[in-house]
Amino acid sequence: MQFAVIGNPIHHSLSPILHNSAFKSLGVVGFYSRYLLENPENFSSLKNLHLTGANITVPFKEIAFKSCNEVFGIAQEIGAVNTLVFEKEKILGYNTDALGFYQCIESLNPKNTLIIGAGGSAKALACILKAKGISTTILNRSQSRLESFIALGFHTATFENFTPKECFDLIINTTPAGLTNDSLPLDSTLLAPLLDSTKFAFDLVYGRETPFLTLAKSLNIPHSDGKQMLINQAILAFEIFMESQKIPINKTILRQSMQTAL
Ligand code: NDP
Repeated sequence: MQFAVIGNPIHHSLSPILHNSAFKSLGVVGFYSRYLLENPENFSSLKNLHLTGANITVPFKEIAFKSCNEVFGIAQEIGAVNTLVFEKEKILGYNTDALGFYQCIESLNPKNTLIIGAGGSAKALACILKAKGISTTILNRSQSRLESFIALGFHTATFENFTPKECFDLIINTTPAGLTNDSLPLDSTLLAPLLDSTKFAFDLVYGRETPFLTLAKSLNIPHSDGKQMLINQAILAFEIFMESQKIPINKTILRQSMQTAL
């Protein structure tokens, strides 16, 4: 069985390490690689790779959703998928980012959250938080991407028109600010008081301490980067892949192998 993570860029992806570690630990014959898709118009040609399944990353999660014949669970509301199963005649789509994130913050039991950023991952997080009954506000630097959140009934604001009237139990940075530079997702005069009054700060970026997390740390706010979310979404995707092939697996071994792979 062949699997791959598909995106552009793709060289940085840690998914092959996670999935190949699971194949090895479980004794399942399978291989997982990276695939650089340069042109989104070629998305339908992925069928020719004869993959059993795939993960989809930036910037193809929405186009992958559109190419599916069937979409399951919360992915239908999100409008984006990160996990595909290729059947003979059909492509099946799932979103494991949403639940992978939720598993990270479930024990915090937040009543309300603030999401900074309004891209594809913000949509996944917002939809699962809403499904769990948690009040969610989306804050973005520009208006246009907020429109689809407004249509789904979320509270939204741009940086200019944001006047916080409440403290948030959880603040999540879903922007790539701080990934390759030293910038905060929003100005510190607005961000610092927000972080100072929250119970937990979460950044989707992993692999480095972003200025967002450094600021939370300096204010003594408990915080986390996105590494555990990455591992959780991979575990959930691997379970979908194996279920699609009717291969029973030991979930404890799967979890242990991915948890220690990075
Ligand atoms: P998108 O490109 O879809 O969205 C990015 C959002 O961030 C947009 O709303 C954009 O605003 C905003 N933004 C971009 N740059 C800045 C900036 N410098 N300052 C303020 N706002 C900014 O990205 P995704 O949602 O797909 O991914 C976002 C991040 O999450 C990436 O870093 C990705 O690596 C990470 N990620 C991590 C995962 C994990 O498992 N840990 C899973 C998925 C994603 P505007 O609308 O104005 O352009």
